[in-house]
Amino acid sequence: METQKGDKNISARDSSSNLVNRQTKTDDTIINVNGIIIGGGEIVIIAGPCAVENREQLLETAKKVHSGGANLLRGGAFKPRTSPYSFQGLGEEGLQYLNEAREITGLPVVTEVMDTRDMEMVCNYTDIIQIGSRNMHNFPLLKEAGKCRKPVLFKRGLMATVDEYLLAAEYILKEGNDQVILCERGIRTFETSTRNTLDLSAVPVLKQKTHLPVIVDPSHGTGQRWLVPIMAKAAIVVGADGVMVEVHHKPEEALSDGQQSLYPEDFVQMVREIEEIARAVGKELYHYKPLPA
Ligand code: PEP
Ligand code: MN
Repeated sequence: METQKGDKNISARDSSSNLVNRQTKTDDTIINVNGIIIGGGEIVIIAGPCAVENREQLLETAKKVHSGGANLLRGGAFKPRTSPYSFQGLGEEGLQYLNEAREITGLPVVTEVMDTRDMEMVCNYTDIIQIGSRNMHNFPLLKEAGKCRKPVLFKRGLMATVDEYLLAAEYILKEGNDQVILCERGIRTFETSTRNTLDLSAVPVLKQKTHLPVIVDPSHGTGQRWLVPIMAKAAIVVGADGVMVEVHHKPEEALSDGQQSLYPEDFVQMVREIEEIARAVGKELYHYKPLPA
């Protein structure tokens, strides 16, 4: 677009040329996290507790999800809680436990960063930085994530349209970080029978519009343990590159999101079922070795 001489805003970028768009880059973005490939055609499973609560809880849960078929470990050290009186996470101590869990299991870790001031520290500990739903529109945080050298698991805002979500992702890519994994985690609607409304149609829509990998979080998407495996399987059918689920070794004692956290045995069963569904749609689990029957 022509602009007047002296206008600092030289040209308005045509949105179709945005870095996230398929028109700009037709081939899928494939993300390599310490040898785990996300978006390469095989299904990736990310699992772990909502929050890192203590060393024992994290290590126990990490070992269980590892033996159950997880490819990456999740766990929040900085928690975006609705109430300021709820458990807020262990901060750096939690990141240290995640490091230990990685050493023991070999699983790369995903953890959330909420504050630009913590970006460098979190980046130094984690393999993937998570930006949570509530921060999807936190542009300073997105710009910092764009400058860091780790892949970003970027969750959809609970009130964001797909196009707003992609424009927010554009902030990260524009700063030079194209290692972005999108995550549908449910949006807020009038429906109250689930915690959020998991928008599974967003998965094929995103896959059509962008080259970035797309995963689904049925834990926050439904808020109820019994719905997690069925919606995880549905996510695979609609084309997700993987799922992220909350698992706790003792969900009834969890300091956050216990009601939506799977028991380790539920997780094992879910992975087996996902494997069958994946095969039905011509895919495999990422490097998953079937457990003995
Ligand atoms: C989480 O994954 O830990 C989390 C807080 O999810 P969301 O940002 O989607 O609410
Ligand atoms: Mn949670």
